Amino acid sequence: MSAILAEKKHLFSCWDRLKGQIRDKIIILFLDFDGTLAPIVEKTGLAALPEETRKVLEKLSRSPCFRIAVVSGRMLADLKQKMNIPHITYVGNHGYEIEGPDINFRGLIPPSMNEAMGFIRENLNGKLASIPGVHIEDKGITLSLHYRSADPENFKLIKRIFNNTCKPYLKNNQITVKSGKMVFEIRPPVVWDKGKAVLWLLNKWKRVLGGDNVFPVCIGDDVTDEDAFKVLKGKGVTVRVGQERDTAAEYYLGNQEEINQLLSLFLESAA
Ligand SMILES: [Mg+2]
Repeated sequence: MSAILAEKKHLFSCWDRLKGQIRDKIIILFLDFDGTLAPIVEKTGLAALPEETRKVLEKLSRSPCFRIAVVSGRMLADLKQKMNIPHITYVGNHGYEIEGPDINFRGLIPPSMNEAMGFIRENLNGKLASIPGVHIEDKGITLSLHYRSADPENFKLIKRIFNNTCKPYLKNNQITVKSGKMVFEIRPPVVWDKGKAVLWLLNKWKRVLGGDNVFPVCIGDDVTDEDAFKVLKGKGVTVRVGQERDTAAEYYLGNQEEINQLLSLFLESAA
């Protein structure tokens, strides 16, 4: 076990202290979807919220002691359909689309981006068509290239094709690219990410509910969640799912079962 990993604490080992911190606070839960609330599956379209998680989230969403935001890289419409729980704020496309009670936000996208995305999509589709297991997900404002199901021998080739295709548009600042778990993503060249979206929402809730009354908790499993962990440092609790060593999160949880347990503990603590 490395020194860095040893420093990261299992959340349940600190629960008693945390319970004291959250007493009488309104807890704002920022929750990632894939790999956090829902198990990762090979075909992203088949991902589903487990029944047990749905039940506890429904209860939390009806309690005045909580505000919930599900923060995902998925398209807003897709995320809403997969979750299908009212009174939750949904953050899609890594923050470019936000919708919830009293919120309807769409990020500013430069017109040149749409044209660039059209060319890139066409190019990637053409060049990657002969490589099995590659899936291009068109999410409107962003585009994801999934290669989880591809032969590992082709990973280098896929990366080269992706980089070469994106290069001219990157150079002209028409797009930005990010990589996650077995996925490359193309996004608008606007400095906006899960971290900025989480902070924007947190400040909004602070204004409405009172800055001292809220306590943010953020749970995620992937590189893109790190932006959110960073902005919440010293402000609340950050939890990375799994044994990732290189993370800005303060705590970790082992698996989705433990996330369900944590959500239930929050519910009990508010009772
Ligand atoms: Mg995730």
